[in-house]
Amino acid sequence: QGVDFSNITELEVFQEGPARVDPIASFDNAGLHPAMLNNVKLAGYETPTPIQRYCLPAIKMGYDVVAVAQTGSGKTAAYLIPILNALMGKAKKLAAPRPNPAAFREGVDQAVRAEPLVVIVCPSRELAVQVFSEARKFCYRTMLRPCVIYGGGPAMEQRAQLQKGCDILISSPGRLIDFMNDTRLLTLRRVRYMVLDEADEMLHDDWKGDFDIIMSGGGELFHDESKSSSYIEEGNIRYMLFSATFPKQFRDLAKNHLAETHVRLRVGRAG
Ligand code: ADP
Ligand code: MG
Repeated sequence: QGVDFSNITELEVFQEGPARVDPIASFDNAGLHPAMLNNVKLAGYETPTPIQRYCLPAIKMGYDVVAVAQTGSGKTAAYLIPILNALMGKAKKLAAPRPNPAAFREGVDQAVRAEPLVVIVCPSRELAVQVFSEARKFCYRTMLRPCVIYGGGPAMEQRAQLQKGCDILISSPGRLIDFMNDTRLLTLRRVRYMVLDEADEMLHDDWKGDFDIIMSGGGELFHDESKSSSYIEEGNIRYMLFSATFPKQFRDLAKNHLAETHVRLRVGRAG
């Protein structure tokens, strides 16, 4: 797409955290699933950007990550590639049973509640759609099904889309909360990765309450019919904050929701 990374490839990546992350030099030796490596090549990505060189191994190692890097530095793929890669081959085991297509055609009652494995929260419809289109490229020829929802969009269509099955949910915060309130439509109980993209755009005071709800998977808000697990088991879920800047509100959110041993990455002079 003619993106020029020449100005950022030389920038230093600063890292803080429990263990040193060894950056990868290329996608080829990043331990990627063959389907993922193929999709990376199909996307035209030849070499990882600086944030990607560190994010891929950090997420693979199982850390929560806070990544701060300027716009255009490839943050989307920095979380999509390692998260989707980790789920490849495991999707069948982790994911909810798929709807029976024949039953699905016969009646709405057969529609299945969406139980995504990954939730990516984006501040705007534009960004959500952009992340969705990247996710679709990386999900090509895998079991993983991405889905995008946002406020102002056609709610009926988005519901129908969700009920066909969704492993990777990309959403604006408002629409996510709306749909989480409809417990027959969506549950976050299977979520393994929660990403806030352009987090600095979302973490202002107006939305603070929303994020506490989202980050806790609905908490009491959500009641599973089976009562088996009506909340996210914190230990099983990895949280990621991606942003161009590191505002003060991050510190609270990171302290409240991220593992104490999370990795912080900052590229160059961003923020
Ligand atoms: P950011 O979120 O940091 O602003 P994006 O993730 O939107 O940046 O990436 C900016 C552009 O660079 C996108 O068009 C994306 O497809 C492209 N891109 C990302 N990583 C690579 C790469 N390793 N090689 C080539 N292009 C890339
Ligand atoms: Mg971005």
